[in-house]
Amino acid sequence: MRIDLHTHSTASDGTDTPTELVRNAVATGLDVVALTDHDTVGGHDEATAAVRALDTPFTLVTGAELSCRIGGVSMHMLAYLFDRAEPELARERELVRDDRVPRAQGMVAKLRELGVPVTWERVAEIAGDGAVGRPHVATAMVELGVVPTVSDAFTDEWLANGGRAYVEKHEFDPFDAIRLVKGAGGVAVFAHPGAAKRGQTVPESVIAELAAAGLDGLEVDHMDHDEPTRARLRSLADELDLLITGSSDYHGSRKSCRLGEYTTDPEVYREIFRRATGAVPISAI
Ligand code: AMP
Ligand code: FE
Ligand code: FE
Ligand code: ZN
Repeated sequence: MRIDLHTHSTASDGTDTPTELVRNAVATGLDVVALTDHDTVGGHDEATAAVRALDTPFTLVTGAELSCRIGGVSMHMLAYLFDRAEPELARERELVRDDRVPRAQGMVAKLRELGVPVTWERVAEIAGDGAVGRPHVATAMVELGVVPTVSDAFTDEWLANGGRAYVEKHEFDPFDAIRLVKGAGGVAVFAHPGAAKRGQTVPESVIAELAAAGLDGLEVDHMDHDEPTRARLRSLADELDLLITGSSDYHGSRKSCRLGEYTTDPEVYREIFRRATGAVPISAI
C-alpha cells in the first residue's frame, strides 16, 4: 500500500485541480492520498467527487495544513479527518485563510516599493479560487523575470520569512490548533518540523510540550529534511511516543517534489484512521 499524506491543489498553492490531483495520484500508483491545502477545505468536495467517479480502488483522506506560529516561529500543522462543520475550528480556519488576502496585498505593495511591477490583479488571477499565498506572488515574480523559479523568490531579498517583501499573516497558536483539531475529531501531525531552509524551526522542548498537549505525530520523511534531521526527528518521535509519517508535500508544477516521493507506513495510516472520529476517508468502489 502506498500512502502520501500531504498534498496541495488549486484550493491553495498547488497547480493540480483536486480532480487532476486524484487522477495523478491513481496514475502514480498511490492507494491513499491526503488533500491538505493551506488553511482551507475548499478542495474537499471536488476531490471527493473525483474519487467517487473512479473505477479503481483508491482512498482520499480529507485534511488541511494549518498555518501556526509560536514564539515568533512559523510552523505548519497537518490536520486529518476532522469534522469540517465543527464551528470553532471552522471559524479560526476561515480567519487565517481570509487574512491571506490583505497580507498578499501587503507583499505586493512592498514589492512595488522595491521596484517590482507586480500587481494584485495578476496575483489574484494566479491564485484563482485558492487560498492565496507566497507561491502565487512568487509565480507572478517569475512571469516578470525577477526570479528564475518560485523557490528563488524565497530569499531574504524577497519573500522568505523576515525578507524585504515579507508580511506576516494571522496564524493559529499551535496549542489552539491541536485543541481545535482534536475537538473536531481530527488527528494532528506537525508538518516538516525540521525544515530549516524555510527559516527558524521550533525547538524540541516545544515539540515535547505539543506532544503533551495531544499532538499525534511528526512528519519525518519530507524533502526538506536531510538524513541527520530525519534520524533526530525519528528518535524524538520515539521518545515522545508520536506517530511518524512521510509525504511528498506535492504542489504540482510549483515545486519539484513528485507525488508519492515519500510515503507513510500502512500501520501508521491505520492508527490515524483509528484515532479519527470527525470524518471517514472517501473510498472509490
Ligand atoms: P505562505 O503560506 O503564503 O506563507 O507560503 C508558504 C508556502 O510557500 C509553503 O507552503 C510552500 O509552498 C512555499 N515555500 C515556503 N518556503 C519555501 C522555499 N524555501 N522554497 C519554495 N517554496 C517555499
Ligand atoms: Fe504550500
Ligand atoms: Fe507546509
Ligand atoms: Zn504543505
